[in-house]
Amino acid sequence: MPFSQLGLSQTLNDHLVANGYATPTPIQAKAIPAILSGRDVMAAAQTGTGKTAAFSLPMIQMLAKGQKAKNNQARALVLTPTRELAAQVHDNAHRYGQPLGIRSEAVYGGVKINPQMQRLRGGVDILVATPGRLLDLHQQNAISFDDLEILVLDEADRMLDMGFIHDLKKIMALLPKKRQNLMFSATFADHIRDLARSLMHNPEQIDVTPPNSTAKNVKQWLIPADKKAKPKLLIHLIKQHNWYQVLVFSRTKHGANKLVKLLDTAGINAAAIHGNKSQAARMKALANFKDKSIQVLVATDIAARGLDISQLPIVINIDLPNVAEDYVHRIGRTGRAEQTGEALSLVSADEIEYLNDIEQLIQKHIEREYEPGFEPSHEVPFSKPIRPLKTKRPKKNKPKTGNVDNRTGTSNNDSSNQKLAPRRKPNKPNRTNNSNTKSASDQRPANKPSANKPRQGKPSGQKQRSSNTSNKALSPWDKRSSS
Ligand code: AMP
Repeated sequence: MPFSQLGLSQTLNDHLVANGYATPTPIQAKAIPAILSGRDVMAAAQTGTGKTAAFSLPMIQMLAKGQKAKNNQARALVLTPTRELAAQVHDNAHRYGQPLGIRSEAVYGGVKINPQMQRLRGGVDILVATPGRLLDLHQQNAISFDDLEILVLDEADRMLDMGFIHDLKKIMALLPKKRQNLMFSATFADHIRDLARSLMHNPEQIDVTPPNSTAKNVKQWLIPADKKAKPKLLIHLIKQHNWYQVLVFSRTKHGANKLVKLLDTAGINAAAIHGNKSQAARMKALANFKDKSIQVLVATDIAARGLDISQLPIVINIDLPNVAEDYVHRIGRTGRAEQTGEALSLVSADEIEYLNDIEQLIQKHIEREYEPGFEPSHEVPFSKPIRPLKTKRPKKNKPKTGNVDNRTGTSNNDSSNQKLAPRRKPNKPNRTNNSNTKSASDQRPANKPSANKPRQGKPSGQKQRSSNTSNKALSPWDKRSSS
């Protein structure tokens, strides 16, 4: 199905085809017509599914029809949780909007504010921003929203997890009440639905994947290993398989730094990307990783959110995340845009509870394979059987008397004292419908080995592996960004 059948103009269709986007992805096929109709849209789409184009393309088409942005005004606002994601969304919106002369800018913290103020002077069609910097810019009169037509919340789940709810409330109070609202989130847990209810007017709900499912084209497996042996095992695997462009996830910043040192000592060029690094250092590490001047990028969960490195063949979890949903986000870095990829986790006995939570969330057991020479002395206990997730009865959508208008709506009441979802502490587990639900403290790895008996014998694994690379032609845009 061509993009033009979704209602996009021939110019945009030709531009996309010329750049290798032959057919829309499932989220694009559903979201583009809905957004073009002017409705509010709430879409559950996993990372890597093409969601940026799903909201950018119709937005660009609609903005191209209206009047140019006035000085210091934004016509569409995209809020993202991280700087990297803001830069990436802007980059995409800029490329997609080129033939229609759409002006896009990105503003985020960690870099000087003055150049951003200057770039906003002439007004922008699409402003991509992280919440804190946007509020700073507004306070300094660098940006106003009198003419704002569209608001996009990208990765809304992460935005709440990172504690942005208060900033979001403040921003909502600055926006005109009559606007179109679009919300994208990998998961739609209750607190995200609460946020959606408070912001949106009768949204069209789009769900292209079951919540928290992992991409089918990502091969997931794990190697049981002793905690102390993990760095050595990682180095062994990278060298043995000659893996390049390896994204490694570490739970902590300190762990990430330590691992980079060990990799460097072993002759593997690596860099870390986490919250303690300056924005310039993060951007440099990412650019070096993309142009392959470094072999391994070690990232923490928050820093890695939104990274789009095309054709990433393998993601390795040196340790498992303590929030099961983060596993889904982590492995979403590979197998993007329907390419294939591998996600490997090195799992030690003390991580069995994290593993159980993850397997429960993704509703399957991750295949275990042992690496000869690295068999653990502390065996990883058996995983628990998978129990079906409890489905919660959907809450009745009470009619609201004062909701935010969409473009065609009438009523509104978008003030700062509007009831939004309660603030969540950063990085608190965000469990959804999990029959195994425990408190956060319950999730810490058991100090003692579990009473469960270790697996008898070893799974058939212990095979030599080859890294799986793309089976799909990349678009010229992707080729450029991956080279
Ligand atoms: P996103 O989920 O928006 O981060 O997109 C993931 C990747 O898919 C990016 O590298 C996009 O360039 C690519 N992509 C998005 N839409 C398409 C499409 N229709 N055809 C091919 N690649 C796409």
